[in-house]
Amino acid sequence: MHHQVPRLIALASVLLAATAAAQDAPPNTSVGDTHDGHLVGGAELPRSGPGFHWETNRGNPGARYGATTLVDALQAAAASVLAAHPGSDLAIHDIALRDGGPIRGHGSHRSGRDVDIAYYARTPDGAPMNPTRSIWFVSGGRERGAPAATGATFHAERTFAFLRALLTDRTIRVSHVFMAPHLQRLVLAAGGRDAAVPDLRRVLRRPRGRRVDPHADHFHVRIHCPPSDTRFCED
Ligand SMILES: [Zn+2]
Repeated sequence: MHHQVPRLIALASVLLAATAAAQDAPPNTSVGDTHDGHLVGGAELPRSGPGFHWETNRGNPGARYGATTLVDALQAAAASVLAAHPGSDLAIHDIALRDGGPIRGHGSHRSGRDVDIAYYARTPDGAPMNPTRSIWFVSGGRERGAPAATGATFHAERTFAFLRALLTDRTIRVSHVFMAPHLQRLVLAAGGRDAAVPDLRRVLRRPRGRRVDPHADHFHVRIHCPPSDTRFCED
């Protein structure tokens, strides 16, 4: 019995600290870490804007909230791809719920620093294509099930251009990009000798384990804690 008391005291102080942190958090803050944190005063991604639209990929109609820096950077990156590739309309998927916290279909996405994004695609004759749903790409960037379906292929150049825009955005620091290995290869090849390629290589992660989402129909970007949030945010 006695040996449990220190543990209870420790637990109580952790809970008190967490409560205090939530109460003191400034108006826009990513609190805690990506797997058990939450979001205070998150920025709302519009349903659509230049070069993008938002749609949930896990049945979460409210998952359009994130750290302000992330939400702004996503819009800037989509606009830059649109400028270089007219007609682009990227499907941005779940970020976090308005207050963050647990969210259906995701292990993380709790503190506004994670976002799922559909891959850019092209038509069988190579033109940019904006699919109305995420497309699952297999080896070589072909659509799973093609040619029965749309015949779309993976658009590595636009996917690289979008990631390059995020990696060179000084307002955020990308920490992880989860992507299927066969698609990583295509994106890195599309980057060629671009100065952002080594940075991309550093943050690319391959999903591991049988139960893990293979990220063949979308990629997942995570950012480091915004510098203004380091008091509450945990990397
Ligand atoms: Zn995700």
